This record gives sequence, structure tokens and C-alpha cells, in this order.
Amino acid sequence: LYISCSIGISVYPEDGDGVESLMQCADVAMYQAKERGRNNYQFFTAGMTERAQEELRMESKLRQAIVNDELLMHYQPQVDLQSGRVIGMEALIRWQHPVMGLIPPAKFIPLAEETGLIIPLGKWILKAACKQARQWQQSGYPDWKMAVNISPKQFWQADLLETVADILEQTGLAPEFLELEITESAIMLDVEKAIDTMKRIRGMGISLAVDDFGTGYSSLSCLQRFPLSKLKIDRSFISSIVDGDNNGAIAEGIIALARTLHLEVIAEGIEELSQVEFLINKGCKQGQGFFFGHPMPPERLATYFLQNFTADYNKNKGPSTFDPCTAETFLRF
Ligand code: C2E
Ligand code: MG
Ligand code: MG
Repeated sequence: LYISCSIGISVYPEDGDGVESLMQCADVAMYQAKERGRNNYQFFTAGMTERAQEELRMESKLRQAIVNDELLMHYQPQVDLQSGRVIGMEALIRWQHPVMGLIPPAKFIPLAEETGLIIPLGKWILKAACKQARQWQQSGYPDWKMAVNISPKQFWQADLLETVADILEQTGLAPEFLELEITESAIMLDVEKAIDTMKRIRGMGISLAVDDFGTGYSSLSCLQRFPLSKLKIDRSFISSIVDGDNNGAIAEGIIALARTLHLEVIAEGIEELSQVEFLINKGCKQGQGFFFGHPMPPERLATYFLQNFTADYNKNKGPSTFDPCTAETFLRF
């Protein structure tokens, strides 16, 4: 057992004049301490209450967002680095708020996770993504894998497998076209139980990728026991890959590790051709990032193909032939 301690401190009389108000302030400060990585202490400040209230407001807005249909999915292509062919799509949620505009997931997924809202939200996401994947297949796009992010709380839900099976059945998507992305920190919480869940997921024919690989901690002995399909190299290691610092070496290490463990490996956050070249040289076969395409709403996909998979693209951006679907094929969509 590893035990850590998070302490919130309030001071009399500045923060309150009675036990109750002092305890309330200390409580708010304690949550701050937890948020800052736990195992530390925080003194209460007035700004903390504002933050807590802001979070409460966001929570109620997020509840409404689900009901009011303000959530939507964007999709980012995952490509084969050598050929430039699209091999998959990652589903990324967006929140289009009528007043606040487009809110990125980093602003609300942690909140949803904290409040438990991630459970209904996660089901909605999974269903939307599977439905979209099926729709693309039915429209004649090649058979891409749909990668869906699964939050830690979702992963530990007792009914995760039933939920996924139900959604696959409802949407008609075959399991081999679904990939779940989980983080190291989620699966390290309870290794034995995680292995059991992962085995059952794999048993259903669904792939499993570890997202942001290299930023969390997973022991190599555990990694070997996890029934994984793929490691996703975190984009922090890709951003300065060719600058000659250690990031290139880390990315290279992860690629070698994946090869040893017979796992696929994909690099995220690729923004430049030099990064593509580095990765190809080191034996990484798959990539994802702004260089190949930003996350986009599904209706922009046809334009995306028209703009990117033409002779021009091949000339300017390096090795890329989009086959079997030519640009004309996509004119239909
Ligand atoms: P992630 O799963 O690691 O997703 C990759 C993030 O990197 C996305 O940010 C994507 O837009 C961004 N990205 C992709 N290529 C590049 C690039 O070349 N450069 C840079 N700078 N960034 C790039 P996004 O969409 O804001 O999502 C952030 C995180 O929020 C995700 O990280 C994931 O952890 C979480 N998230 C997003 N959608 C969902 C979801 O549907 N469910 C859950 N549980 N989490 C989600
Ligand atoms: Mg992801
Ligand atoms: Mg990631």
C-alpha cells in the first residue's frame, strides 16, 4: 500500500470565524492539494472558492449540454507513414456552447470524470463514434479502425463490456473496427483486474491502445502482461524529436519496446515532415497529427480527401498515395 496525504489549511480569523466556515475553507483547499498531484498542502485563498463555484457552474452547463445536443464528435485521421494511407480515425469530443463557443475536451472531460458524468457521456461518445464508423463503411470509405478514448472511470465500470457489446450490436459495427484508448495511469490502478478486463475486451475482437504512452508510469513487467494491441507515443516526445534532445531517444526507445513486445506503435502529434522522416527511419509505421490532418467534423472529410490526396499533396508533402480511393471517389460524399 502506498499512502499519501493531502492537506487543506484555513486560518482563523481571516478565512472564517466559526468551525463550520473554517472547515469548509480547509475542505476547498484540500481539493486543491489533491488536484496539484496529491501529497502536498495548500492554504485556502479566496480565489479557490471562485474556482469551486466556476466548476459547479460548468458541471450544470455540461449536464445541460448532453440534453441540449451541444456535444459533437470530431475525427482525426491516423495514417500509414510510408504510404500516407488513412488507416484509422480517432474520435475526439467537442462541446459547442451557444455562448462560450467551442470548448476543448481538456476543459470538461476532467470535470466529467470527477462528477461521474463521464459514464453517460462516455456511452454517448462510443455510440456516436461507432455509428459514424459504420456510416463511413456503408458509404464506401475503406474500412478504418475507429479509436475511441476511454476515461479511467469508464474503464473501471463493471458493465463496460456489456455497454460496448450493446453499442456494437445497435450500430452494426464489427468489433475489429473498434479500438479503445486507455491511459497507463488507469490500468495501473489495479493490475490484475485491469488484465482481466483487457483480456475480455480483446476476446471480443476489439483492439486496445495505450494513449499518451511514456507520460505515465507502467512497469515493464506489467506492460508485458497487458494484452495490448498498440502503444501511442505521447506527442510531447514527438514535438522536439529532431532537435537532438532526449525526446528523439525516448521515441526511439518506445518504438523498440513495442517491437520487442510485438505491439503496433503510433506516434501522435506529428506536425512536420522531418518528424515523419525520423519516425520512418526508426521503424515507426503509423502516425497521427496536424501534419496529416486536424480533427474535423465528419462532414469535412470529403473535402479533406480532395485537398490532401491529390497529386499536389504527393508532390509537396512527401510519400502519399491514397489508394484505393481516389479524389473522385470522394466527390460522391
Ligand atoms: P488524446 O486522446 O491524446 O488526443 C490527442 C489530442 O492531441 C487531441 O486534443 C488532438 O486534437 C491533439 N492533437 C492531434 N494532433 C496534434 C498535433 O499535431 N499537434 C498538437 N499540438 N496537438 C495535436 P483534444 O481533442 O483537445 O483532446 C485532448 C484530450 O482530451 C485527449 O487526448 C483525450 O485525453 C481527451 N478526450 C478527447 N476526446 C475524448 C473523448 O471522447 N472521451 C474521453 N474520455 N476523452 C477525450
Ligand atoms: Mg487518444
Ligand atoms: Mg494522446
